Amino acid sequence: MLPLSVVCFTGLLFLGGCGQAMLSDEHLANRSKKEFSKMKQQESMSTNYDHREMITRIGQNIAGVAQVDLPGTEWEFVVFNKDEPNAFAMPGGKVGVNRGLIDLASGNEDEIAAVMGHEIAHVALRHSNKRMSQAISLGVGGVILDVALRNQSSTDRMLGRAAYGVGSTVGLALPFSRSNEQEADHRGLYYSAMAGYDPRAAISFWQKMEANNKGRRMPQFLSTHPNPGNRIQFLRENMERPLALYREAKVSRGETPNP
Ligand SMILES: [Zn+2]
Repeated sequence: MLPLSVVCFTGLLFLGGCGQAMLSDEHLANRSKKEFSKMKQQESMSTNYDHREMITRIGQNIAGVAQVDLPGTEWEFVVFNKDEPNAFAMPGGKVGVNRGLIDLASGNEDEIAAVMGHEIAHVALRHSNKRMSQAISLGVGGVILDVALRNQSSTDRMLGRAAYGVGSTVGLALPFSRSNEQEADHRGLYYSAMAGYDPRAAISFWQKMEANNKGRRMPQFLSTHPNPGNRIQFLRENMERPLALYREAKVSRGETPNP
């Protein structure tokens, strides 16, 4: 482990002084944009029009609510043609959803909105930023700061992929902390509900994800999004207000909410 004082040496990248190593939002958004472009070139992207239209529509609805926390974001929503049920959101509003996740949710838009709300909440709460800053300070994956400073772009790529939950390409993944998970669950309920999606779908989605996990190796999604204690119970206990907001959102659009 590198001492925090060493991290402070990266003065160009970090804001907030030695006590709180944080990358600047602008730096992370720029790196994310470049990294996302590379992913789109390297990974197989879905050609399924219905999937792409659905993910863009859900994403834009949630981004409309989250915009207050992430003003000026250039949102982009992409469906990757991969079996693994996974989704991620990078700083700067770059969001990826795998076909496998749409399949796991059986195309249920409320459930997909629950996942996208959760992912976008991680970005709004700057969790990726904290996680990447921590990864650099810990020298995760054998990256030592000396190398990081000499070869900024490859370090960013490696840490970026790890931090955004697409770490299998480099053989590592950095989990969000359990408190990060609970914060994202909570904020995500409000995002999806206010965007007009039934927040109770978060419960059915996580149940599906856990059932899917039984007897298998840890899926990528759960390895980066660990269960924060009793997630289902937490969601149930915090459902009243999001449910009321969902009903208001539906009625204001002249639509009928789920009973
Ligand atoms: Zn999470």
